Amino acid sequence: MLSLRNLHKTYANGVHATRDISLEIPTGLFGLLGPNGAGKSSLMRTIATLQRPDSGSIHLDGIDVLAQPQVLRRQLGYLPQDFGVYPKVSALELLNHFAVLKGITARGERREMVEALLQQTNLWEARRRAVHTYSGGMRQRFGIAQALLGAPRLVIVDEPTAGLDPDERNRFLNLLARIGEQVVVILSTHIVADVTDLCARMAIIAAGRVVASGAPQDAIATL
Ligand code: ADP
Ligand code: ADP
Repeated sequence: MLSLRNLHKTYANGVHATRDISLEIPTGLFGLLGPNGAGKSSLMRTIATLQRPDSGSIHLDGIDVLAQPQVLRRQLGYLPQDFGVYPKVSALELLNHFAVLKGITARGERREMVEALLQQTNLWEARRRAVHTYSGGMRQRFGIAQALLGAPRLVIVDEPTAGLDPDERNRFLNLLARIGEQVVVILSTHIVADVTDLCARMAIIAAGRVVASGAPQDAIATL
């Protein structure tokens, strides 16, 4: 369970990106829906401890995230928007490398984890191809494989469906829903169908505020 209480974030330029956001986010796929500029990325960066809120609190399974950001970071898988400049090495090599960086140093354990993630994201057949030759959908799935290294308890995915074709989009959202069976997964999007299809719960944000939250059909009905 991720608990956000009264989060405020104003940037140095005076933009109020996050205004008094409070949400209880249980295990499952959680959709954060809002138009461009609503504050979705700002909220996700705040939860990911890339920036500090001006006030409010964040707890993950009882851990005070603002007091102990390093604890949260070990439990976090984060796929930022527009991620995807990769060196010319294969998916297998790159994932192995990221696993080492994450501190998964035991060879057997690392191999097992990397192979399992390539299977889970349906990239096993393409594991020896360089990631920069992947399609948009394959890159996003590789991004998820990377985010899942180290078995995080919280996964944050920022606008991942932009630029995916319908098949890739469905495949990707199904992957996120399966991951949500075990952990908290937060998906941001400006596309209503992304949240109505597979999200268990959602929030709608506009101009930095939560304007509705709950089950998708209930939240959408308030629009
Ligand atoms: P702080 O975290 O200290 O409040 P900011 O997050 O406000 O600092 O600033 C981070 C950087 O992003 C600054 O250089 C800021 O000028 C820049 N920036 C300003 N406007 C935007 C914007 N609309 N989108 C992204 N970055 C921006
Ligand atoms: P979304 O992800 O919903 O498109 P953002 O969180 O990127 O929304 O942006 C929310 C508001 O904050 C926008 O007005 C944007 O221009 C502004 N903003 C985003 N990042 C920064 C930054 N680093 N510094 C200043 N303003 C920012």
